[in-house]
Amino acid sequence: MTDFVNAGLRELGAALAQKQISSVELTTLFLDRIEKFNPTLNAFVSVGRDQALAAAQAADRKLGAGGTVSPLCGIPLAHKDIFCAEGWRTTCGSKMLADFVAPYDAHVVELLNAAGMVTLGKCNMDEFAMGSSNETSFFGPVKNPWDTACVPGGSSGGSAAAVAARLAPVATGTDTGGSIRQPAALCGLSGLKPTYGVVSRYGMIAFASSLDQGGPMARSAEDCALLLNGMAGFDPRDSTSLERPTEDYCRDLGKPLDGLRIGLPREFFGAGMDAGVRAAVETALAEYRKLGATTVEVSLPNSGLSVPAYYVIAPAEASSNLSRFDGVRYGHRAADYADLNDMYAKSRAEGFGAEVKRRILIGTYVLSHGYYDAYYLKAQKIRRLIAADFQEAFKSCDVIMGPTAPSVAFPFGAKSADPVQMYLSDIYTIAVNLAGLPGMSIPCGFDKDLPVGLQIVGPWFGEAKMLGVAHRFQQATDWHRRAPAAFAA
Ligand code: GLN
Repeated sequence: MTDFVNAGLRELGAALAQKQISSVELTTLFLDRIEKFNPTLNAFVSVGRDQALAAAQAADRKLGAGGTVSPLCGIPLAHKDIFCAEGWRTTCGSKMLADFVAPYDAHVVELLNAAGMVTLGKCNMDEFAMGSSNETSFFGPVKNPWDTACVPGGSSGGSAAAVAARLAPVATGTDTGGSIRQPAALCGLSGLKPTYGVVSRYGMIAFASSLDQGGPMARSAEDCALLLNGMAGFDPRDSTSLERPTEDYCRDLGKPLDGLRIGLPREFFGAGMDAGVRAAVETALAEYRKLGATTVEVSLPNSGLSVPAYYVIAPAEASSNLSRFDGVRYGHRAADYADLNDMYAKSRAEGFGAEVKRRILIGTYVLSHGYYDAYYLKAQKIRRLIAADFQEAFKSCDVIMGPTAPSVAFPFGAKSADPVQMYLSDIYTIAVNLAGLPGMSIPCGFDKDLPVGLQIVGPWFGEAKMLGVAHRFQQATDWHRRAPAAFAA
């Protein structure tokens, strides 16, 4: 009998096709687990039992009709609450959108619905995806299933906790500076941020548009590949969506690693990384050498500037994107106000949390006349240099590896009083967004009984290659199969 709670997408697809289980039964299994464990974890902001069961019934009809169906048909998933889903409350972790019901589907949601996937619910997240610990959510922090006194990472912390605790087989996430990879690392998952433009941003609530990308969060690289197959695709409604031939992201799964050149950026192995993280990453690299890869040192000389450049560019774009929340068309509106300006000011003052306000202030400042050249333009130039560093590095290697995050999951409150400490959680991930490259994190060991993530970065459109490299490691190791004991089936 298949262990459905721990099964991968391929196994679940096969079980559904062979009628070992129906989509309604599978969906019920996960809904019941959510009911049991979500009060502890707070991973979901909304759960839709009726909507999910209706979708599961529709999937069962498709599966029963005998034609060819998507390999994802009938499989449940959870969406980060940043993706608009028609008829679902879509909050983005904010009081501003606490009662907003989306009138349409994001492209990603549309594609996965069309494939027959079943939405279980919407996952908690840092407010407007700003954060690395899930502590900025209006709906309260998410707990890390490996240790509920610790953060799950952020901003896709609800998605990460849900998949790690087996409340959903897979989930969607978004990554602007590390929000898929860092929570994946802290919760022991595999998560992938695609090349900018591979996944449409239509219906994905905007934070920093030139950096935001949606992507899969799963237990294995293979599941990431299968879910990405369902999420990627050209969408004319997103002007930065790329029109490219359809790719099968499973293409390189099982490909041997002989001759693979792994670049190790000197700058990612310096001070700042915890000893236990370093030890786990070094052990993983030794495993890769055993599997036939070679490692070469490379350099990303400007990567030290990535956090400061990001904290100019991302707030600048956020300040512009978030100006649409004015209390007029949708979102929170203050109850009492003197005039129109007072209504804007009060609605925004009440609707946004402290971190979002901090970003809007920084962004407005760096874009203002007189500072634009000194900050915003300078940050854009640094961004170009960082992208050039990666291009240079990829001349001598096929993929780049290093730690995903400098430490394992940290206790609640440990970094929330010091924004700069919090921002440094993404010190290894942010450069990848600035360069628009694909990056992923896979579990590679433990430190203090908490999971450690190995980051893999590929050249533009290197998703299939990276997934192959990750899958080969997962065939040889079992870190990705470890589950937090407290949430066992
Ligand atoms: N932690 C980073 C931030 O707060 C990145 C967040 C993200 O990728 N959405 O901006």
